[in-house]
Amino acid sequence: MEPLLTLLDLLKHEIDDLSSAEEQIVDALPKMLEKATSRELKDALQDHLSVTQRQQDRLEQVRTLVAEHVADNKKKLLGKLFGGNTKCKGMEGLIAEGQKMISQNMDLIVRDAAIIGAAQKIEHYEIAGYGTARAYASELGLTEVETLLEVNLHEEYETDDALTALAVRLVNVAADKGNVPGPDHAAKKSTRSGSAGTAKKTSRASSPRKKAAPKKASAKAAKKKSSE
Ligand code: FE
Ligand code: FE
Repeated sequence: MEPLLTLLDLLKHEIDDLSSAEEQIVDALPKMLEKATSRELKDALQDHLSVTQRQQDRLEQVRTLVAEHVADNKKKLLGKLFGGNTKCKGMEGLIAEGQKMISQNMDLIVRDAAIIGAAQKIEHYEIAGYGTARAYASELGLTEVETLLEVNLHEEYETDDALTALAVRLVNVAADKGNVPGPDHAAKKSTRSGSAGTAKKTSRASSPRKKAAPKKASAKAAKKKSSE
């Protein structure tokens, strides 16, 4: 691997990583779909396959835009822009782990719950990757690249949320054989977040979605207030 000397180099590396991740996901989703039993889960996975293919198109646009930016700045030859054969090992591991898990001898609805868990680990990896790449693009002033990456990022969030909702409303409930839903069951479930086994709030907080309020200013204000 060539040395990464600038933030732009890091952005290109992240785009290579995401492109490889999406390519592997396009291969993996039909296998997960085949193993799923619930109609709604099958539909959700099929929808996400179409979404992922559109994300690949956006990543191609991102590559073109970054190539134009580099060419404008005469920093490198176009042919050396992207790694090309970089394989995302993180996604390879997540997919292998998920496939191993759902190939076990399992009750069908328990397998559906496991498929959702495996899919959400994949979504969270993508959320981290797109959040990071978007922040680099923002720092570099590559507005169009930032916008394209943001569209993909939001689609990953939406998929993660939809999978959590499906798990909590239907699949986990059905897989929980000892569960006898009482009258307040639905209300209790709806107050939880990330019950499908995810830590959604944490991952959102750690991605550069919103800027944190400056803590120093509020501490200063509190001090001023107490001395009044
Ligand atoms: Fe994706
Ligand atoms: Fe995804």
